[in-house]
Amino acid sequence: MIKKCSICDNEIDFQYHPETGEVMWREGHNAQPLTNGRCCTECNETKVIPTRLAMFFQRPAKVEDKEGNTIYECQVTYEGDE
Ligand SMILES: [Zn+2]
Repeated sequence: MIKKCSICDNEIDFQYHPETGEVMWREGHNAQPLTNGRCCTECNETKVIPTRLAMFFQRPAKVEDKEGNTIYECQVTYEGDE
């Protein structure tokens, strides 16, 4: 059964072995903190990883799903700024 990305709803892409071409992994990526499901490589690279970095470095970030709904937003308030 083909799994769908929990962020963009596309089919989760398989990871292939670079030499044998066999499917090595078909479960996609952990989509947390955006969703509790799995996501495709594109969402992982363009949404999930940037969100994790933004959380780690306390940077503002905004991530939208395919319909333009905000699924994650972080607004950093700088204390002490005048
Ligand atoms: Zn996706």
